[in-house]
Amino acid sequence: MPRLARRHLTEAASSPTSVSPARRRAIATRLLRWYEQNRRHLPWRHRRDPYAIWVSEVMLQQTQVATVTPYYERWMQRFPTVRALACADEDAVLGVWQGLGYYSRARRLLAGARTLVSVYGGEVPSTVAELRRVPGIGAYSAGAIASIAFGVQEPAVDGNAARVLGRLECVEGDPKRAQVARRLSTIARRLVPLDRPGDFNQALMELGATLCVPRRPECSQCPLQRLCRARRQRRTEQLVAAPAQPPKRQVHMVAAVIRRAGRVLVARQRDDAARWAGLWKFPDAELGSAEQPEVAVARAAQTAARVTVAVDRRSSRLRFVITNHSITLDVYECRVRGRTGISAGQHAAWKLPLELEALAMPAAHRKIARSLPGSSDRGRAVRSDDPNRRQMRKGWQAGRTGYSTQRRQQRPHTGEGKGTCA
Ligand code: SF4
Repeated sequence: MPRLARRHLTEAASSPTSVSPARRRAIATRLLRWYEQNRRHLPWRHRRDPYAIWVSEVMLQQTQVATVTPYYERWMQRFPTVRALACADEDAVLGVWQGLGYYSRARRLLAGARTLVSVYGGEVPSTVAELRRVPGIGAYSAGAIASIAFGVQEPAVDGNAARVLGRLECVEGDPKRAQVARRLSTIARRLVPLDRPGDFNQALMELGATLCVPRRPECSQCPLQRLCRARRQRRTEQLVAAPAQPPKRQVHMVAAVIRRAGRVLVARQRDDAARWAGLWKFPDAELGSAEQPEVAVARAAQTAARVTVAVDRRSSRLRFVITNHSITLDVYECRVRGRTGISAGQHAAWKLPLELEALAMPAAHRKIARSLPGSSDRGRAVRSDDPNRRQMRKGWQAGRTGYSTQRRQQRPHTGEGKGTCA
């Protein structure tokens, strides 16, 4: 390529978001060629189904590919269509999701599926405007579904794509800030080609997940290295780097395993709870400053089910991280003292350890349940195919994903009537 033309491609930009046609073509050509040769083979990339794309998109929000993959496969087996999901009850949906975290995502999928059945007859609409009317589908998901499943020329800028775009065009600032995000979205919209918009969006995300990583991007292997303004200015580490994370808040919690006649007490978290809404768990509480653990355990039992307990001993300690909290959870064995106050209207129940397997529980409480004598899982070694347990292990290293090479496709016709689950 002549030197002048190359200079034009790397430096021409009369306004912060302008991209010359020559530069646009060069970026798309190089990126798509690289993607064809280097994309990872992931289960959702083998499906030409907007519902499958939507599910994978939601699961991949704030979660790594390796963690998502077994959940995605289980989900698609259990709820293979929009209608199958819409007709499921919330407990079943949360049961399949349990262990993946951020449970509001599962509820949003369910609400969205019910809207799709009642309004669109179980089909996923193809335009961004219609997609945005579905609960739980935001700008990014709408762009991803429209471009990948239906070949619509729309951008889809997730965190990985934002990082690539920010470096490519030297955009200053945190991509989470609205002004920066808008600028990146404008750049993306100018870059997405009419031909293969879905592949282009996936390629951007894939590049951000695998080479253009937050720290020490592998520029020497990057298909865009000659076009990248940040690389040319030696500013790749400064631009769109994730802001430093604040230290995690240390939280000390207690949980009560309260026994009565071979059963244990579990309570269902309120639907409006900030964390684990709708899930079942052992009564638990955060330890107050200077509060004795036994007092907190008794408080947890009272709050969950108005049960007075005698605390026997601490049986185990779990440590786990949820968003910006580092949690230590001490588990105490307890007995009921006197009568229990559980009323019919309360969301608490006495269950055999074996019966707990049927309830949707957060991962830490599932671990407690499976440690109980009489549970189906007691004493079993960690199974490699169990996503709830695998997520607890360290060492998952994979980036965000992109999607498959679908071209414009027909909307799948379900042959189902509108509005019911029957
Ligand atoms: S050259 Fe480096 S910084 Fe630029 S897009 Fe490629 S990997 Fe990212």
